[in-house]
Amino acid sequence: MKHFIALDIGGTSIKYGVINEMGVILRKGEIKTEAEKGGQALLKKITDLIKEQMQGAPHIDGIGISTAGQVCPKSGSVLFATDNLPGWTGIELKKHIQDTFLLPVAVENDVNAAALGEKWLGAGSEVEDFLCLTIGTGIGGAIVINGKVYHGIAGTAGEFGHIVIHKGGKPCTCGSKGCFEQYASTKALALIAEEINLKNRFKSKIITGKMIFEEAAKGDIVCQEAIDLFINNMAVGIASLVHIFNPGFIIIGGGISAQGLWLSQKIEQAVKASVMPSFAKELHVCFAKLGNDAGILGSVYGLL
Ligand SMILES: [Zn+2]
Repeated sequence: MKHFIALDIGGTSIKYGVINEMGVILRKGEIKTEAEKGGQALLKKITDLIKEQMQGAPHIDGIGISTAGQVCPKSGSVLFATDNLPGWTGIELKKHIQDTFLLPVAVENDVNAAALGEKWLGAGSEVEDFLCLTIGTGIGGAIVINGKVYHGIAGTAGEFGHIVIHKGGKPCTCGSKGCFEQYASTKALALIAEEINLKNRFKSKIITGKMIFEEAAKGDIVCQEAIDLFINNMAVGIASLVHIFNPGFIIIGGGISAQGLWLSQKIEQAVKASVMPSFAKELHVCFAKLGNDAGILGSVYGLL
């Protein structure tokens, strides 16, 4: 039985674990990224973490790493990371870890890794082709074809959050305007709520997507209206993806997937109503199944 060390590096925390080739997580944990200390400090931190995990673990056959930012699929280096991971751009992640531990190393972007986790053991385990969207403060995407991630020429394919759905619309962090993630991320849901003047309904000054879902579940009609607008926005962006890929499955992960079946069914209905009938026929929208473990599981999938 092969065993792997898995890391999932995000802007606020690093999830880690020891996983066997059957996908059983033998142990796992989470530590703060402390991204503000910079790229080299982060590299040292994960190197120390791997050393620590090797002690007392079974024989380790490889190391899987999922990281925020864009990753070169050939070299396993970080092509670009936002200010969430300052100094991470340009880090030769795969080379450094491989040279240090002399073991096979797989490095993948976090959304792609989560999609591979779902392919291996989650919502995509029975299908070979699907699209994955992660809805959080932004929108991430992954394209899985024949059971593998489609990377594109530079390794950065699947930036679904930056499809323009409103020409000249809200400014986006990418420098463009009217991007999908400005209308259908959980951050966007909070903004929709503010726009329809929901502020006075909440005691706290900061409204989160979670709070809106909670109030809607209690019967608040205005919160329900905000969620309907959010779902409609989501359908606009997803409809474009459906017309390009004609997928059978769309797997949605991120915070909203905690809401359960009613929401995925509503999204599926809204998407089906927004696409040509032939595209709607065999289309299924579902939520990711692996939750926070998708990244560490998917990070080792390439080592199997
Ligand atoms: Zn954008």
